Amino acid sequence: MTPPARLNSLAARDVAAVFHPYTDQIAHAENGPVVISRGNGVRVLDDAGKSYIDVVAGLWCAALGFSNERLVEAATRQMRALPFYHAFGSKSHEPMIELSEMLLARAPVPMSKVFFANSGSEANDSAIKMVWYYNNARGLHEKKKIIGRIKGYHGITLASASLTGLPYNHKSFDLPLPGFLHTMTPHFYHGALPGETEAEFATRCADELEKLILAEGPETVAALFAEPIMGAGGVLIPPAGYFPKIKAVLDKYDVLLVADEVICGFGRTGQYWGSQTMAVQPDILTCAKALSAAYLPISAVMVNDRVFGPIAEETHKLGTFGHGFTYSGHPVAAAVAVETLKIYDEMNMLDHVGDVGPYMQSELRRRFTDHPLVGEVRGTGLIAAIELVEDKAEHRNFDAGRKVGARTAKHMENLGVIGRALPGDGLAFSPPLIITKSEIDEVLDGVEKALAAIT
Ligand code: PLP
Repeated sequence: MTPPARLNSLAARDVAAVFHPYTDQIAHAENGPVVISRGNGVRVLDDAGKSYIDVVAGLWCAALGFSNERLVEAATRQMRALPFYHAFGSKSHEPMIELSEMLLARAPVPMSKVFFANSGSEANDSAIKMVWYYNNARGLHEKKKIIGRIKGYHGITLASASLTGLPYNHKSFDLPLPGFLHTMTPHFYHGALPGETEAEFATRCADELEKLILAEGPETVAALFAEPIMGAGGVLIPPAGYFPKIKAVLDKYDVLLVADEVICGFGRTGQYWGSQTMAVQPDILTCAKALSAAYLPISAVMVNDRVFGPIAEETHKLGTFGHGFTYSGHPVAAAVAVETLKIYDEMNMLDHVGDVGPYMQSELRRRFTDHPLVGEVRGTGLIAAIELVEDKAEHRNFDAGRKVGARTAKHMENLGVIGRALPGDGLAFSPPLIITKSEIDEVLDGVEKALAAIT
């Protein structure tokens, strides 16, 4: 391993000390990190002063960019008033109460209670445990299997990684755990049969789900978890009519639907929730990321009456709900989330996304649909991807070993645009919701130049 040149630089210290998440550790030791030291609107600066537009808002999360003073002040105010208190048993505090009320008032379907955790993974883990608890409360002790979808992403804890449908989250970790199943990816571009319409494809996805439930035995299947739009798996937009067809199957077999809104929530897809954009009718909804604009870690699980009722009865029988994190509903994180939701309202965030989102989508299509390396441009609101292919007519991807997506993202970074390659050589677009049209132009100029450098 060759350490980066500048001895005692932050880069060298990073290589010596940090075990990075989601990183090839050997390549990282050779190449060193990009040390980000400041934020300014949709831009971040590295320790050498180079400025980048971040077109994925960090990890699809910094919805208000990287220098929002109101959020800093909300955190400071709350730290001074009450830096910590927990929510176990009878204890409560105002930021958590206010945030719960705000989430329930904004929910896409009627929800009755909100549980807090610290990350998307923990929210999904909590939701899985709630589903199990719910079925035990109903005396349905066999009904425990959880279905995810191939290419779905739900996090990296033992249960949420098992639910995730991406190979790198399973390989060498001995996952998925038993009891986690995966159904097909609803991606028309790659998944449709010759001559199949979108409606027929959506019906086939629902039929596949039904076959899986029947093969396992409906009395053993508890819930399906689904992102309204799959994010990390490739920004995969389901075909029209997909979720109503899926929901009809789930209802037939008394299987709950959990919407993972960790990326899609809070305006990303053009409506407040991805569930509204994609006609999802969830029993449980998990969210995180833009909930606090990523300024502090916080996530939430909303449950409807159908789910909360039996759970509440069971907690009364057992004397407690034996689940909760020290930092569930942390007052400083909750205060920042409350302020974040107020800012979304005050800036008319949905109107802004309604203006810049279609601009980003149409510019992506105008510039890239006919590009020889681009197979598909897809997205809605302020979430999109372009997929790079070797054979446009056959929809054939490049050999994974050529790392075409990762190399394009690296070229973009050199040009001052932080991008992200997705599985199958997709390039993700999920900028801070405050991005302007001219900043979008700047990003897309960078993408064009980066693609020109790909051979
Ligand atoms: N669910 C979805 C849809 C996500 O995109 C992510 C993270 O990207 C998660 C869950 C996991 O969230 P976290 O990384 O906060 O645990």
